[in-house]
Amino acid sequence: MRAIVVGAGVAGLGTALLLARDGHDVVLLERDATPLPADPDEAFHWDRRGAPQVRHSHAFLARGRNLLRDQLPEVRAALLESGVREVGWADMVPSTIEDKTPQPGDEDLVMLACRRTTFEWTLRKVALDAAGIDLRDGVGVTGLLMDGTHVTGVRTDHGDEHADLVIDATGRPSRLVSMLDVPEEKSDTGIVYLSRFYRLRGDAPNPFPFMGADLGYMKFAVFRGDNDTFSITIAHATDDDEMRDLRDPARFDAAVMLVDLMRIWADPAVSEPIGDLHYMGGLINRVRWFVRDGKPRVTGFVAIGDSSVCTNPLYGRGCSLGLVHGTLLVDAIRAGNQIELALDEATKRELVPWYEASVAQDRVNAQVARGEKLSEADEYMRSVVQDGLFHLVRTDAEVSRVWTRGFNLLSSPYAMLTDQSIMPRVLEAWSRRGEREPEPLPGPDRETFLLQVHS
Ligand SMILES: Cc1cc2nc3c(=O)[nH]c(=O)nc-3n(C[C@H](O)[C@H](O)[C@H](O)COP(=O)(O)OP(=O)(O)OC[C@H]3O[C@@H](n4cnc5c(N)ncnc54)[C@H](O)[C@@H]3O)c2cc1C
Repeated sequence: MRAIVVGAGVAGLGTALLLARDGHDVVLLERDATPLPADPDEAFHWDRRGAPQVRHSHAFLARGRNLLRDQLPEVRAALLESGVREVGWADMVPSTIEDKTPQPGDEDLVMLACRRTTFEWTLRKVALDAAGIDLRDGVGVTGLLMDGTHVTGVRTDHGDEHADLVIDATGRPSRLVSMLDVPEEKSDTGIVYLSRFYRLRGDAPNPFPFMGADLGYMKFAVFRGDNDTFSITIAHATDDDEMRDLRDPARFDAAVMLVDLMRIWADPAVSEPIGDLHYMGGLINRVRWFVRDGKPRVTGFVAIGDSSVCTNPLYGRGCSLGLVHGTLLVDAIRAGNQIELALDEATKRELVPWYEASVAQDRVNAQVARGEKLSEADEYMRSVVQDGLFHLVRTDAEVSRVWTRGFNLLSSPYAMLTDQSIMPRVLEAWSRRGEREPEPLPGPDRETFLLQVHS
């Protein structure tokens, strides 16, 4: 089969590699005229205006890492060669978990410590070397060639290209799907992102791949990267005018110094910034429906990655889900006929539940951020999670493993809340919440924070 993949981001590159492995001819078109930088550090300054999120923190979850291990081992090997580290469960959990004896299944609980630019640079490097992939950068797709409701190819700013299947991997803003008038469900995540990258001068303050906390008025996280880099992201509510000033780099730096978990990393004795402060808004959850009444709206065309299902970046799922989507497409093609229907079914089974979980979580988070009263059911669930589950995640190895599996997309969204191997213990810990000292807030309260950031 001849396939055109539009967009050489994570989903496009991963899918192109999976298709080429199955013997298909792939033309991979990328609008950004961005030749491959020489190494990960040059790639950090790569001009990737088509994917502006590349200079924001990215967590690479075990689901995506395991997929590379099992299906694209050459990419995993190249990532390790690029300076990316794999971080297993025992290194992710705090010292409050005493028993770290390896257990069966731990080999799957492994995340990647990696800058997004390094991840994409490595995928691009492998794709450029792969037989069967014709990667052309600086080629923007401007339209779809149609025969009735069948897509026969694409119109580009360099001429027309024909194919048996057009795969839209143009990411969140995808205009190709907009041309097809496909219905969608969309909600704002209610947050904006501020990220900055740093390089360690010596040893890291602690081994975690990723750590963060929610102070109510802002969420923050430190992400380990490759080659002695890390990044810090602060997310706050879109409509929180008092937090807007954090877009000023001096105020962002001041904010980082007010919270111990961030300060120990960003302390000038420990690290130095390696890039500007980056801001991003317009973050959405969105799903698009390509099948109506059991029939695809168009044939010869599918969408994968963010162009099809897009989730709040806060949960770190997009890259893993984009790669998973590529494998689902390859499975649908292998199965033979009705690729569009088979992919739609698989998308609804594997990706849409994560979209729904994001929307549900964002709704509760937004209510909390606005100080609104939650429904009784939401209040109960939130309390069980915060005062039962999270207490055990910090102290009980088995609960921590189950939670880590869920966070890393290795079980279904709410599986842990019905997992009888842990839930009786979670409810017991929750029922005894009054007997414990409340967890201290890992940072200043809002009033103190704003006062100090503005002083
Ligand atoms: C702020 C932020 C933080 C995030 N953090 C995480 C995280 O921690 N972990 C995680 O897994 N995910 C995270 N994500 C999500 C992740 O970045 C996306 O899910 C992922 O990039 C989707 O990949 P994609 O290939 O679908 O799209 P993209 O990576 O956006 O790539 C789309 C590509 O298509 C190209 N293109 C667009 N239009 C055309 C055209 N007409 N012709 C040719 N080419 C075109 C673009 O130039 C681009 O290269 C984050 C997202 C954001 C916004």
